[in-house]
Amino acid sequence: MSEATLQGRLAALQGRLASACARAGRSPDAVTLVAVSKTFDAAAVAEAYALGLRDFGENYVQELSAKQAALAHLEGLRWHMIGHLQRNKARAVVPGVAMLQSLDSVALAVEVSKRAAEARRSLPVLVQVNVGGEAQKSGCAPGALGALLDAVEALPGVSLSGLMTVPPHTEDPAGARPFFDALLALREAHGGPSRLPVVSMGMTHDLEVAVAAGATMVRVGNALFGSRKTD
Ligand SMILES: *Cc1c(COP(=O)(O)O)cnc(C)c1O
Repeated sequence: MSEATLQGRLAALQGRLASACARAGRSPDAVTLVAVSKTFDAAAVAEAYALGLRDFGENYVQELSAKQAALAHLEGLRWHMIGHLQRNKARAVVPGVAMLQSLDSVALAVEVSKRAAEARRSLPVLVQVNVGGEAQKSGCAPGALGALLDAVEALPGVSLSGLMTVPPHTEDPAGARPFFDALLALREAHGGPSRLPVVSMGMTHDLEVAVAAGATMVRVGNALFGSRKTD
């Protein structure tokens, strides 16, 4: 099928995921695909929804809100906030997302919990970990993870679902492996799969490596929607 169409790119991506799962001896159902729609318009999301996708990731609050409003009629569509969230934007995001994947501080957890309680809900969250220790990246430091997980569990409006990371970029996708392994090791050190069932890692460039390392959720934009001009 042609990769000039969304349908063709989705088939190719599902093929990549299926072979990665097969090579890792994992069931294809063990990995959830989150379609990262940042910079692509609501029509592209609607087309992906029509092809069966339900989980969509956005990085920016305004863009997320605009697409939510445009696509409110699509039943069962789940929005994931995957970009850095400022505390003063929590109120705009919390009521309408299925999951916040970028929780990275106690202060943000407190604010998100408060806004979720106001919306009479409990929001599933992933704690983002900066496994590469990169100054320009968000995410909590590995050493601060234990305290943050405890804080999340003590708050009424957030429900701890797992961990997320964005590794440092390496030309060779295999270069991400040590960082993915580091996230899995942190999961084991902090309660394992029963406490942290979701491990969100792997993007267009390195999703095979992430699946081999144990990702349960991959976040893919370019391979699905075509190339973003800028990011
Ligand atoms: C943009 C983005 C992705 C998707 O990256 P692609 O290279 O387009 O697959 C995944 N996760 C986060 C946090 C992103 O910002």
